[in-house]
Amino acid sequence: MDIDVVIAGAGPNGLLLAAELRLAGVRPIVLERLPERSNEQRANGLVGQVARALDRRGLAEPLGGDPGGPIPRPEYIFAAMRLPLQLIDDNPIYILPSPQPKIEAVLEERALELGADLRRGHELAGFTQDEDGVTVEVAGPDGPYALRAKFLVGADGGRSRTRKLAGIDFVGVTNDAMVSRLGHASIPAEYFDPASGVLRIPGYGDIPPFMHHRSDRGLFVYAPFPGRQPLVSTGEWNESDAGEMTFEELQASVDRVLGVHLPLIQESEFVRRNVGGNTRIADRFRAGRVLLVGDAAHVHSAMGGPGLNLGLQDVLNLGWKLAAEVQGWAPEGLLDTYESERRPVGERVVMQTQAQSALVAPGPEVTALRKVFAELLTEPATVQHIADLISGADIRYFDGPHPLIGRSVPDLTVDGVRLAEILRSGRPVLLDLLEGSPYASHANERVDLVTGRGEQQVAMLIRPDGYVAWAADDAAASEGLQAALAKWFQVRNLTSATT
Ligand SMILES: Cc1cc2nc3c(=O)[nH]c(=O)nc-3n(C[C@H](O)[C@H](O)[C@H](O)COP(=O)(O)OP(=O)(O)OC[C@H]3O[C@@H](n4cnc5c(N)ncnc54)[C@H](O)[C@@H]3O)c2cc1C
Repeated sequence: MDIDVVIAGAGPNGLLLAAELRLAGVRPIVLERLPERSNEQRANGLVGQVARALDRRGLAEPLGGDPGGPIPRPEYIFAAMRLPLQLIDDNPIYILPSPQPKIEAVLEERALELGADLRRGHELAGFTQDEDGVTVEVAGPDGPYALRAKFLVGADGGRSRTRKLAGIDFVGVTNDAMVSRLGHASIPAEYFDPASGVLRIPGYGDIPPFMHHRSDRGLFVYAPFPGRQPLVSTGEWNESDAGEMTFEELQASVDRVLGVHLPLIQESEFVRRNVGGNTRIADRFRAGRVLLVGDAAHVHSAMGGPGLNLGLQDVLNLGWKLAAEVQGWAPEGLLDTYESERRPVGERVVMQTQAQSALVAPGPEVTALRKVFAELLTEPATVQHIADLISGADIRYFDGPHPLIGRSVPDLTVDGVRLAEILRSGRPVLLDLLEGSPYASHANERVDLVTGRGEQQVAMLIRPDGYVAWAADDAAASEGLQAALAKWFQVRNLTSATT
């Protein structure tokens, strides 16, 4: 079989998966039905631990991250309430401020650089699978053709054809009440406080830019992105219009939400109305040789921007496991840990986005509930909890005797080099920062050994997705390393004094 993996969809998740598979030496073909990259305005940035994960591939800086590694944000919002992140010691909220077309451009460049075969204008039309592989039917620009591959991954978005053809249910709810509108618009200068940049609206009050703002009637956001068209958006409940969306409709919606007239200046023809929203999760992420990632596996409200924090980390979790399966060295059950690790994370995103949607709805009961939440959000422990929840910093895939086991690797330096840079090869690493480098004899063809000195006396077995498979603080505590090497990387029979 010439093709290892067919990926349906060249959105952010399909493109990153192609890059991950190439990094591991696997040959993917990416089918994308659109003839050109989409310019659709969706994500405005990446929020959460995904920034650190992409830094471990050298992709954070091209997406607006600091060259020295992503820096946590001093403030963020939860359900249109300020999260006072300065109250907490361990701020996990990182942001890469890139619009979706730029995210896709950067990921496409990486996938192509690494040699992925990207076919635009080629649509997945159908597939059949058997024990040995998947036969994919493609509608290409020159007519239909078939591909035979070991695996098919559906990265084809919320309406995923792959998911439907695989017979995988999309379980959840559709909320028809919420109507969101957005457009490129600015606001006259006299409405801003020149010192703080805060919107000062006579008869209403102050609204900081970029933050979701809830009134008793709905949501309002003004986002004056540097170097891009400013965006105005609203969210209302049961206030839909028929027909084509217009700029006048956006203006009327802003005025209804705020209860006063705030004049908008139209900056482009772009306006959009979305009615309703889905919160759904696939009942399986895998059906035989077919897997789902990103929006194909789960959709939810965009509030707080969690979509790509979830999807791109699905991809980083799946990529190396699928490569191991294709290359024939995957330990038994490795590929199934993709779903067992990522489904609970998806379920938590569904939970927290539904909670945020409930907390921004109109009505006096919700206003009262928000007051209770606002009180709770003066407590550092509560702020830490919510920040960990929305950033994904609370993910622990599995337990172990050391507190780092199952968690995302901490930011360390090794002889002055950032660990994130060392992990960019996407290979498993046994990092030994202990006195005397007791694990030096564990180098093998599958796991790279890195020794040196860092801020912490620790040894860790780090998976390609940056999660810690095993850790110890001293050489005496080496039990579990041999088992972890076998469980995750099929490495057995190491002769070493420490095991
Ligand atoms: C208004 C809005 C704002 C958002 N804001 C944010 C944000 O700020 N931060 C954030 O992280 N996320 C945000 N999101 C979510 C984010 O846009 C999605 O999570 C993300 O695009 C999902 O990526 P994907 O690759 O899974 O799917 P998609 O981006 O949907 O890509 C799927 C691709 O598959 C292609 N395709 C579909 N069917 C086929 C087929 N049969 N054959 C071949 N190709 C096919 C499509 O053309 C498309 O290119 C927002 C979403 C919306 C709607």
